[in-house]
Amino acid sequence: MKESLLNFKQSAICKDASSGMLAHSVLLISPDDYALQNYAKFLAQTLMCSGENKPCGECAECRKIEHNNHVDIMYYPKANKALNSSEIAELVDLAFQAPYASDKKVFIINNTNNIDASMQNKLLKTLEEPPHNTFFILLATEDNNILPTIKSRCRSVFLPKTSQNEISTILNEQNIAQDVQQQVLAFCGGNCSLALKYAQSTEFYDCVLLVQEILKNFRNSSQMIDYSAKLYKLNDNFEEFLTIFLQNCSDAVKLLCGVKNDNPTALVVAKEFSINAITNLVLECNKFLEKRKRNCNFSALIDSFLFMILEVRHKWPI
Ligand SMILES: [Zn+2]
Repeated sequence: MKESLLNFKQSAICKDASSGMLAHSVLLISPDDYALQNYAKFLAQTLMCSGENKPCGECAECRKIEHNNHVDIMYYPKANKALNSSEIAELVDLAFQAPYASDKKVFIINNTNNIDASMQNKLLKTLEEPPHNTFFILLATEDNNILPTIKSRCRSVFLPKTSQNEISTILNEQNIAQDVQQQVLAFCGGNCSLALKYAQSTEFYDCVLLVQEILKNFRNSSQMIDYSAKLYKLNDNFEEFLTIFLQNCSDAVKLLCGVKNDNPTALVVAKEFSINAITNLVLECNKFLEKRKRNCNFSALIDSFLFMILEVRHKWPI
């Protein structure tokens, strides 16, 4: 996440952390947990760094934080999904003790939006009157469940989405094949966690392949039984299939309107269908997504979806 973190380094919050002006409590908000962890670590490094250009990434403090073994950086909750009362008691107690090895200590608290309201109230007092050398970095995937009193004690920062280039670099590090990457990038919406989840999911890849196959090869009713069976097997993943199908068709429309697009499946769609046909596939696919959400009869839904594709091909030939 080099590019994002270099931008973050220029933000007011990092500059304040670097110059010792940071508020004691910071709330970082993003639906992307991967980004949250990286930004929190970067901010902790900025606070603790003993180098000149903070965070230098090279001093002992920065390196220890990078490898998650700095004794004055504490991560909570330790095992549970959200902080419980015994952990809050432990955390408050620790907050008032002197740091072990540095001149300050940092608590990084995950899943703040999952902390029960009564537990948040227990934490509030420490956030209101923090020890002078203690910092809290609260992480939340959304800010709805966080008490206004907690928010008012924190400096809140909504993290930006991650660029496709950066996500692509992360996927390359995981040796994710290029054709899967293209599909993942089209769906992750700048969210690294979602990109990694999709890239490592065989269900996602199966949906991608089936979308490609149907768009390319499904041409007559004799293939209905075969494709109907394949779609039926998707079961809970049919909605994901429809979303991928829709994305590829939308990308193909953009392509035919002259907007550059790297999605290889969109290229296939643009060759296989006329612009009128693709526009109608987009309209119809949206309707099927709605029907799927309303729990319509699954088997009938699949058959009418396949008939719709044949009808569109027939009605608006290329
Ligand atoms: Zn450093």
